[in-house]
Amino acid sequence: MPDRRSAATDSRRAVPRTDAVLADPRLATAAARLGGRLVKEAVTAAQARCRAGDLEPGEVADAALAALPEAATSLHRVVNATGVVVHTNLGRAPLSAAAREAVALAAGPTDVELDLATGRRGPGGAGALAALAAAVPDAGAVHVVNNGAAALALVTLGLAAGRNVVLSRGEMVEIGDGFRIPELLESVGATLREVGTTNRVRLADYAAAVDGATAFVLKVHPSNFVVSGFTSTVPVRELAGLPVPVVADIGSGLLAPHPLLPGEPDAATALREGAALVTASGDKLLGGPQAGLLLGRADLVQALRRHPLARALRVDKLTLAALEATLTGPTAPVRAALEADTAALRRRAGALAGLLADVGADARASVAAVGGGGAPGVELPSAAVTLPVPFAEALRRGRPAVVGRVERDRLLLDLRTVPPEQDEELLAAVRAAAAALAGA
Ligand SMILES: *Cc1c(COP(=O)(O)O)cnc(C)c1O
Repeated sequence: MPDRRSAATDSRRAVPRTDAVLADPRLATAAARLGGRLVKEAVTAAQARCRAGDLEPGEVADAALAALPEAATSLHRVVNATGVVVHTNLGRAPLSAAAREAVALAAGPTDVELDLATGRRGPGGAGALAALAAAVPDAGAVHVVNNGAAALALVTLGLAAGRNVVLSRGEMVEIGDGFRIPELLESVGATLREVGTTNRVRLADYAAAVDGATAFVLKVHPSNFVVSGFTSTVPVRELAGLPVPVVADIGSGLLAPHPLLPGEPDAATALREGAALVTASGDKLLGGPQAGLLLGRADLVQALRRHPLARALRVDKLTLAALEATLTGPTAPVRAALEADTAALRRRAGALAGLLADVGADARASVAAVGGGGAPGVELPSAAVTLPVPFAEALRRGRPAVVGRVERDRLLLDLRTVPPEQDEELLAAVRAAAAALAGA
């Protein structure tokens, strides 16, 4: 075993030159795939480690190769072991394999605005809109914009600029990151008519506020909190009797009722109960790409689609492709996580913990959540592999990164949000983290 010190001294003299390292055919291939800049950065970092005595000169190319990102993006692939099904900080809904394939196809030249039969210009996104219309037959027409906030902004701008929107004080919601629904409404020129109190509102409150200046009554789903106790709200079917349109911002993007989420509003029910328009996100419970869904009365949707601002909120071909595949393809990961059988999760946790007993793992029942996507307060029974807390950072620093949650002095890797086909990868990641911790 050579003395590390003298090896370091030798290395300092013998740091391989950049062009010599870059001549390694594996790095040349990587440069063609990822771009020269990323590869050069990795080589420079490896040379620095060699200079510091951490690497032998002959190890520089291998180290540079190992440090290269998976793709030419600073984003990292993450295994979501948080137990939060729609995790805002992890990019909300992960796309299904079908949606990823569709995105890859649409990334090249594609007939998004061309009719291949006639060679003439075609309507953009016809396939995605048809899939959405088919998924919600109660909607007279549908439109897709950039996100839920854009859908609500377009509705408000198109119908209520210079007019009033009636909204319950109990539904003056902040969604997250400082995004407040009332501020959005006012920012596009609507005046808010607040009715009721934080905990209670009645139909008579709405009726008294509706007048000639009212554009619509807005019903907002409090998608990230619950109010309990002495409360009352007015359902869409009662608001629908008022002489102005009802707009329902359901947020979560559930298109039809879901048996596991009985309290969560859905587009079909809101429309059937008389909402003129429904707005929702594409990347929450629907499990698709970031998008804003606009569904409802054909005359209103058509008018909004032709509004000058609609162009500024337009989605791109990648979103259209992912949305269509989410709507027509196999079960999306969000739905699969929501519906995963708890007994199967327990079995997986037990098996993984058994294989990792030597690094201090065990299995435990846990409680997962729907998350930023809606269904506040809903608890999803789940199962987790637990590890000593230092694994939390080691796993985050691994590639792929694994993000769990710390609870009662243990790191929990909650399996409800980990698809079973990622178990092998999770196992390898824990092994690598254990090695990193042992080496540190
Ligand atoms: C999430 C949400 C929004 C915002 O949608 P984005 O897609 O994040 O822009 C608006 N309203 C409600 C009720 C929501 O839950």
